[in-house]
Amino acid sequence: MPPPAPYGLKSERNVIRCSAHTAKTGRRCKRLTAKTPYCYQHLEKLEHLVVKKSTIPNAGNGLFTTVPRKTGNKITNYAGTNTGYTREDRERGHLFGGDYVLEMPTRPPTYFNPFHTTDSAGRYSNMARRGDGKANNAGIGYSQRYHQPFLKAIHPIPNATKQHPRELLATYGRNYWQ
Ligand SMILES: [Zn+2]
Repeated sequence: MPPPAPYGLKSERNVIRCSAHTAKTGRRCKRLTAKTPYCYQHLEKLEHLVVKKSTIPNAGNGLFTTVPRKTGNKITNYAGTNTGYTREDRERGHLFGGDYVLEMPTRPPTYFNPFHTTDSAGRYSNMARRGDGKANNAGIGYSQRYHQPFLKAIHPIPNATKQHPRELLATYGRNYWQ
C-alpha cells in the first residue's frame, strides 16, 4: 500500500511491471507500465479498456471502452488511498489538491485519492463539461461493503469495439473537486 498522498500535490508518475499473468505460462507479464496496473495489451484483454488521447480538446489522455456497456455495469475499480482528509479540513479551507480526489459517500465523507498514475485505469476518465458537446456516460459507484469506489456506466454505451473504442466520460458531480 503506497503512503497517503500529501495534500496539494499533483499525481505522481509511477513505472511498474504489469500486474497481469500471461495465460500461456502463468508467469507475470514482463512489460512495464506507467499508466495503469496493466500494460496496454493486458488492460484491453482483462478490462476491455484503453488509455489514449481524449476526444475532449486539451484534456490529455482519456479512458476508452472496447466493448459495449450496459447501464449500471461496473467498468473498473478505483485503487488509491484514503487521504484522512475530512470535511472539516475542507471547510476550514486547508490546502487540498490532487486532480483525482473523489469524495466517498460515507458518513462522515472520506476522500479517496488515486494518486499514482498506475493506481487504476478509472482515473483516466475525463468529465465532459458544458461546451464540450459531449454527454457523460459514466459515473462513480461505491461499495459500502468493500469501501471501494468504482467506475460504472450510467447510460448504455453501444457500438464500442477494439477498432472503434468509445470514450468513457464520467460525471463526478459534487463528489469531485480540486
Ligand atoms: Zn501485461
